[in-house]
Amino acid sequence: MHDEIKEILISEEDIQKKTKELAAVITEQFDGKFPLAVGVLKGAMPFMSDLLKRVDTHIEMDFMDVSSYEGGMRSTGEVKIIKDLNTKVKGRDLLIIEDIIDSGLTLSYLVDLFKYRNANSITIVTLLDKPSGRQSDVKADLVGFEVPDAFVVGYGLDYQEKYRNLPYIGVLKPEIYS
Ligand code: 5GP
Ligand code: MG
Ligand code: MG
Repeated sequence: MHDEIKEILISEEDIQKKTKELAAVITEQFDGKFPLAVGVLKGAMPFMSDLLKRVDTHIEMDFMDVSSYEGGMRSTGEVKIIKDLNTKVKGRDLLIIEDIIDSGLTLSYLVDLFKYRNANSITIVTLLDKPSGRQSDVKADLVGFEVPDAFVVGYGLDYQEKYRNLPYIGVLKPEIYS
């Protein structure tokens, strides 16, 4: 699997260090508030796990599964709910956890949805931000790393459902796409 990677953009060590830093900020921001952490499946799963185990205050966890990609490499702009939350959002302080913000269409859909459901507050943390792809004005409150305009895989991010279990963020060799 590793020999299909052209280049490692963010090492396992750097990711782990960053999750500690972000967890410290989240701990301070949400201390005593019992926020609802909303992981966006499937990509945010490894990040959510590493991040939240380092948060030192009570948090509730739930998951959404939304799709806008249908296995391709570009956003279609159409967001579909595959799995909704099991938890009521009304009055809650939400912490949305994402793997990457590219077009921002997924996130702006979720923010609108949670506003409509009367969340008390919405905070967004994303491991990766790809500002070059943006098609909406949504912004994350907390960002792990900025990435260039390239299709990245690993640490939750897939290409055709593969590579999510890599411990780092990398770029695939071009021959893998063809
Ligand atoms: P957006 O709606 O912001 O365009 O992106 C939504 C989702 O597209 C992300 O959560 C992620 O699952 C996927 N995505 C966007 N950019 C990349 C990328 O560079 N690599 C991978 N593997 N998925 C991406
Ligand atoms: Mg995602
Ligand atoms: Mg994907």
